[in-house]
Amino acid sequence: MGTQTIRRRHIIRGAAFLIICAALFPAEIRVLMSDMKAPFSVKSESGLSAESGAHVFIASNNEFRIDAGRDGVSVSGYGIYRQVDISSAAVIRLNGISLNGTVRFIPHNGSVAAIAVLDLEEYVRGVLPYEMQQDWPLEALKAQALTARSYALHHMLLKKKDTPYDVDNTTKYQVYRGIVPGASNVNAAVAETEGEVIIYRGHIIPAYFHASCGGYTESTYRIFGVDIPYLRGCPCYYCGTNARHWSFAVTKDEFAAKLAQAAVRVGAIHRVAVIERNRSGRVDAFLAAGDAGSKKINGGELRKLMGAGRMQSLAFDVKLDETHVRFSGTGNGHGVGMCQWGAYGMALAGLSYKDVVFLYYKTAEIHDYRILRTLEPDIWKINETYLNSFTSH
Ligand SMILES: [Zn+2]
Repeated sequence: MGTQTIRRRHIIRGAAFLIICAALFPAEIRVLMSDMKAPFSVKSESGLSAESGAHVFIASNNEFRIDAGRDGVSVSGYGIYRQVDISSAAVIRLNGISLNGTVRFIPHNGSVAAIAVLDLEEYVRGVLPYEMQQDWPLEALKAQALTARSYALHHMLLKKKDTPYDVDNTTKYQVYRGIVPGASNVNAAVAETEGEVIIYRGHIIPAYFHASCGGYTESTYRIFGVDIPYLRGCPCYYCGTNARHWSFAVTKDEFAAKLAQAAVRVGAIHRVAVIERNRSGRVDAFLAAGDAGSKKINGGELRKLMGAGRMQSLAFDVKLDETHVRFSGTGNGHGVGMCQWGAYGMALAGLSYKDVVFLYYKTAEIHDYRILRTLEPDIWKINETYLNSFTSH
């Protein structure tokens, strides 16, 4: 990643958010179900109705079939509309997914998209099992509930009024696939932290997290060039033995070819080395030397070239032999914010979810967003694409 000139910007403030704030209660999140494609079947046990403007239809057999129509959303047997909201007193089945809420259909990218409109708490209940294992200790799940809720609310506040959705249901944001059965610990974690979010100076933070840090969480300054006070990195004594160790090897030729993709051309490789590490032990700068010269490459950029699935973190060592470049490291993810295995270790040690939050988001506070006077997202001009490419799990 090229280091960017990045400055803190609370650019969108005041009146706009007060208006959004008024519209947030009760907070409903709009989730684009982007991994689902038309045609859609929407079913319910009872009382399924569709609404479009002044038109309301009751499904005669408790099912609507939705597809792309000419210039709109086709509701089989009822006509074509610009937007259709389907709701029920019971659970809705959308192409096999169960959810509590309304399903909105809009024309989207030449077809029709489904948007689940649901209570924020219901959404967090659905997201949690995809972000953390359901059988983990309650206090770890509660910490994860706060990160999930904060992250979601942050995006809800960021979205402009005319944007039809707040987040999508993939790893680009957080995975959501409706009601997850048997998630009792998850339900307790959400219920016991209802409404609680992580705040910095009155602003809802985008609560980044990762699987395991390997002993020291990452400072955003090192990877984004922006100093976010609650994400400066800290020692983590809790992921310890659970931090994943990984290794992989690539041939010298493959390595040279990968570097060339980033216009780092050094010819046939004869030397590789880590030349700068930050205080968390992660690689800042890497040197590759070949018969056509030597070049320095940023650690984050190298990880992107190698693939974040293979090079799971920047806490690594490198060796070169006759044929291969061999990497071995520890930890998984970008290292920013909460270390999930650390949260697991803290919960097992008898610490609370608040201890977890205050360790990984130093100087932050926990508040129930429903009683805050104003709701504003904490905005930093960072390279989200870079962060999203390292989604942790
Ligand atoms: Zn850790």
